[in-house]
Amino acid sequence: MAFLDSTAPVRCRLCGWSEVTLLGPVAPTHPAEFHTNEFTLQHCGHCDVVYLHPLPSANDLRLLYQQSMQFTDAHYTDPAQVEKILAYYSGAARNLDLIPQNGARMLEIGAGLAWMSRACKAIDPTVLTIAQDVSAECADTCPWVDHYFVGTVDAIPDRGPYQMVSLTHVIEHLANPASMLRTISALVQPGGAVFITAPFRPSGWRRGDAITAWRDYSYLHVPAHITYFSRQWFELQAASHFSIAHWDASHENGQAFELVLRRK
Ligand SMILES: [Zn+2]
Repeated sequence: MAFLDSTAPVRCRLCGWSEVTLLGPVAPTHPAEFHTNEFTLQHCGHCDVVYLHPLPSANDLRLLYQQSMQFTDAHYTDPAQVEKILAYYSGAARNLDLIPQNGARMLEIGAGLAWMSRACKAIDPTVLTIAQDVSAECADTCPWVDHYFVGTVDAIPDRGPYQMVSLTHVIEHLANPASMLRTISALVQPGGAVFITAPFRPSGWRRGDAITAWRDYSYLHVPAHITYFSRQWFELQAASHFSIAHWDASHENGQAFELVLRRK
């Protein structure tokens, strides 16, 4: 008889099915007094998501986000780097048909420096750009944003509808991503797009493989990154409101994915 760990989750936190297996323990990658140092990665055989267990506590999140400046690094201000980042966003906006038409609105969630707003505004200055972030760090340094709202998504005064909503490297930080998708579904107009990028998994890692590759994965941020998604999960969770218009998990050698959902 197998020995069962009574503290392990029985049901997948992301889809509710009981096909969860423990990949193994992962140590915090950020130095702070978190509520525990015994985090693990779990894999769900049903939705194919890898997620962190347990969730970071409210105080863990304060330690991660409120006591650190995230965007002062030269990585985000060096002109050559800025050009490179903008080239990526402009290319994605054009190639994936994301640019709002005829002065329509777009919303950038967890915006930080609001790169997607910057790219769209540069392509078409009539696009109305709204950005949201829980941190005020970048609110006064993004002239390409028409309205920069500091607070939660639920509290954004402008409820849309938006022609495009963008979340780049945001959804992996959320404790309840399904709830965020439901909130977004009410903000996007029919035919509108939701653009999502996030970490995927270590290059070449497949279900059934050992945890080893995860420990060297540059996007393993413990406990900041809570979920490593799959196309399967979006198909399960988003199907009632969205269709998958684009899925590409080959970015950065298969370490990150790019997704476009279209509102039905
Ligand atoms: Zn699952």
